Amino acid sequence: MEDKIINEQDLENWRRTHYSHQVNGSTIDKLIIIMGWISSKRDHGNVLFIQLRDKFGDIQIVVKKGKENSENRVFDILKNLKEHSSVGIKGKVVEQKKSPNCVEVIPHEIKVLSVSAKSAPFLTNSISTIGIDTRLELRALDLRRNYLQNIFRIRFTILNSVREFLTKNHFIEVNTPKMISTATEGGAALFPIFYYDKEAFLAQSPQLYKEQLTMAFENVFEIAPIFRAEPSRTNRHLSEAISIDIEKAFVNYYDIMDLLDELISYIILRTKEVNSIELKNLDIELSEIKIPFPRHTYSELIDKLQKSHKYIRWGDDISPKILKDVIGDDFYYIVDWPLSTKPFYVKSKINSDAAVSKSDSPVDSSESENMMVSESFDLMFGPLELSSGSTRVNNKNVLLDSMKKKGLNSAAFDYHLRVFDYGIPPHAGFGLGLERLIMALLKVENIRDTTFYPRDIDRLTP
Ligand code: ATP
Ligand code: MN
Repeated sequence: MEDKIINEQDLENWRRTHYSHQVNGSTIDKLIIIMGWISSKRDHGNVLFIQLRDKFGDIQIVVKKGKENSENRVFDILKNLKEHSSVGIKGKVVEQKKSPNCVEVIPHEIKVLSVSAKSAPFLTNSISTIGIDTRLELRALDLRRNYLQNIFRIRFTILNSVREFLTKNHFIEVNTPKMISTATEGGAALFPIFYYDKEAFLAQSPQLYKEQLTMAFENVFEIAPIFRAEPSRTNRHLSEAISIDIEKAFVNYYDIMDLLDELISYIILRTKEVNSIELKNLDIELSEIKIPFPRHTYSELIDKLQKSHKYIRWGDDISPKILKDVIGDDFYYIVDWPLSTKPFYVKSKINSDAAVSKSDSPVDSSESENMMVSESFDLMFGPLELSSGSTRVNNKNVLLDSMKKKGLNSAAFDYHLRVFDYGIPPHAGFGLGLERLIMALLKVENIRDTTFYPRDIDRLTP
């Protein structure tokens, strides 16, 4: 087909009268204006079938080569327009049993609003055989693909349901600074920035601020980016991720696990209600989940893992790869992690007999310290970590001591520590990775397809 130059036109006084889902049996014989982009096109010589897509879906346009000039203008333009071009169509609705909405539109007039100058590397229905890097180069276009449309519509439902659930449970939403002066999760993964004439950092988590806010509001949550200079290339790490963070006063980590159980189950319930079509398109069946999710202690898992992996020692982090051997593909917790594997603000578990049972001979104090257990949990989905939570230290001296042991300069945390002189209540909470949760629920292999514009070690654009 020869490429003709088609002139783009202004919107002027054209406005859409109907979205695609409003074009149905009740609009037959009406003259309507629809707007959208061409999602697919079948050319049968003298007849063209066009799918025009708007935010609600597709509507079929049928145009035949006619006898009159005005008809042929529309035909010629549509014949030459490439997929993805944006148009407005004024036309008549007619019955068509074979089309998905049982109607189609016969165009009388067309307004070409934006021409797709090149043949796009992917159409809305293409399945991603194209590598993610190629797709990211044209991400906004990539996001028009059906697969990603389904994912991002569900993402929106997840965010809405988190807000609904936490609002019902008497949490208030807060926002905390993203430009900060000190690390919270250990120094390694910070992004330094210029803050006027000082060095500052992008926040790795809202941890210390949300803890402080329990003092004023008891139950708080924040949905916001966290920034981590992750050194490795994996399919589950981003440099900028969205964290769903909560913190609650006068409870411990067991209460927080109960809350997280209910949150996940509410998200699944709402997603099934709101996004049944998207789930079907993705071929995902969100089965009924049973809460509470199983809670395995860290020590139990290490014992199991040691049977097949002799080199694993109590105190090691557990890598996702080896977890596959002992765990199914579902939600569960790993609780009571060694204190040494957790950040300084995590509370130690008193009266724990883990230290005793792990050692046959009497231990010196530094060794028994190494065996200390914390009031902590990770929520897992198969080998994937979704969330970490814990009871927090709320005593200033204990916190100071813990900072010292982790080699942190407590003076740098003075802005935080001073609050502890004024009765900060006992509190506990978690951080839940939004992108990780989407990966788990929708079986997305690469975390980059759960966020609009992924950031990683190789990528700062688009
Ligand atoms: P991982 O061990 O998987 O790197 P983490 O233990 O370092 O994660 P936490 O500090 O516990 O992460 O953060 C709480 C949650 O935030 C994690 O369970 C995860 O869901 C999410 N998260 C943390 N870092 C990232 C990241 N780089 N990309 C995406 N999500 C992340
Ligand atoms: Mn963690």
